[in-house]
Amino acid sequence: MQGKHGGFSASVNAMYDKAVALMDLGPGLAEKIRVCNATYTVRFGVRLRGEIHTFTGYRSVHSEHMEPVKGGIRYAMAVDQDEVEALASLMTYKCALVETPFGGSKGGLRIDPTKWEADELERITRRFAYELIKRDMINPAQNVPAPDMGTGEREMAWIQDQYQRMNTTDINGRACVTGKPLNAGGIAGRIEATGRGVQYALREFFRHPEDIAEAGLSGTLEGKRVVVQGLGNVGFHAASFLEREDGAKICGIIERDGAIWSDAGLAVDEVHMHMREHGGVKGFPGATFDENGAALLEAECDILIPAALESVIHEGNAARIKAPLIIEAANGPITSAANEILQKRGCIIIPDLYANAGGVTVSYFEWVKNLSHIRFGRMQRRAEEARHQLLVDELERLSKARDVPWTLSDDFKRNYLRGAGELELVRSGLDDTMRAAYGAMREVWRQRDDVPDLRTAGFIVAISRIAASYTAKGL
Ligand code: NAD
Repeated sequence: MQGKHGGFSASVNAMYDKAVALMDLGPGLAEKIRVCNATYTVRFGVRLRGEIHTFTGYRSVHSEHMEPVKGGIRYAMAVDQDEVEALASLMTYKCALVETPFGGSKGGLRIDPTKWEADELERITRRFAYELIKRDMINPAQNVPAPDMGTGEREMAWIQDQYQRMNTTDINGRACVTGKPLNAGGIAGRIEATGRGVQYALREFFRHPEDIAEAGLSGTLEGKRVVVQGLGNVGFHAASFLEREDGAKICGIIERDGAIWSDAGLAVDEVHMHMREHGGVKGFPGATFDENGAALLEAECDILIPAALESVIHEGNAARIKAPLIIEAANGPITSAANEILQKRGCIIIPDLYANAGGVTVSYFEWVKNLSHIRFGRMQRRAEEARHQLLVDELERLSKARDVPWTLSDDFKRNYLRGAGELELVRSGLDDTMRAAYGAMREVWRQRDDVPDLRTAGFIVAISRIAASYTAKGL
């Protein structure tokens, strides 16, 4: 398994090297971009339940070619230096690919968050944040964390509050972290953003008949059989949107306690509710249950969405994966060795550095919102509505004056007259970003015979942009 013994970083680096081999970078530049600039390890004690507990946390900065650097903070027992460094490097490539003006970073705390009460987690989080803030490893201009596995809005709000307590005169203090609740300076649409981005990525893929055919598929997302691993933030939103808005059939869901399957498709929101009540997917009515969840990765389906953790598709099971299309909602779910096996078999992989970039994209919007101190759409919304109203009034006046027998439907008027609020603008910006990044990646994939897959193409686009940034700095 990766995550230990340097495996995850080695896997990301192998994919990076594959792309670099097809590029013409100046001497030494490939190495400079590949290496992780710095990783800070902190061990701190918190008095809890009558004794001092020592925790280990990390914040890794992969590349500062743009600042601030950006990347989530993960709470999990598997967190180690190799994992945060691999994830930090992925952040660098991801930000470059979707053109968010950040370098890559990542943080992690080795903790099982389910073992602690909320007030205990708050004390642990505040202490971890304190250690990072005092070294400028959380700072609106230098390093801006976000949620990742095991963390969410609540943890981000604690981190933000801790920063503001320690930097009372920093007018941009709210921008020290993204993924905050709305009432603490967050942005509409951030919670759903990564899952929404996965949906937009799939929609964009299905706009290209040549790409669909290459995966051996046809038609649209409607009716496609989907298997999702991990019904957390990313997996739940992606699955729910694909089911409700695109007509996909979510046939299989894999969670920690096992997997459920229904040929007719599962009602994702109900499965999510069931998980909240029962702590797992087992016992969900109308579905078959298999304790060996990972086996369902190998099920017959059209689209596989690993949305839980890294290295779940490896040398040991890659040859048995039947899905012709895999979209990496999680970071690093396919090892480099498995990637080669799948590629030889003609499986199309929409790679993590693109597929799950919705989170950092909307985090970018949140950061900009915090720095500009105004909600998106606040100035324009009513002006836009007033202009639309003018047009509707004029059309109705004309139709009456000339006795033309048509009217605008109420539905049309309602939709047309409504000015875009923050959520609409965020979704529009995210959609535009996902389409543009797919276009950039696809152009390289389609135009160069030596580029075998979307992942290599994505790396080439990202590395070229980072290289240009270093060159512009005179390095
Ligand atoms: P999360 O903690 O909200 O959800 C993870 C889910 O996976 C949970 O439901 C958990 O029970 C399940 N899970 C854990 N181990 C499992 C296993 N062995 N088998 C099946 N299910 C398992 O985390 P998340 O924020 O949704 O992140 C998931 C992945 O997406 C991670 O790789 C993360 O780095 C990546 N990601 C997250 C974001 C974000 O905005 N949250 C952004 C980009 C990438």
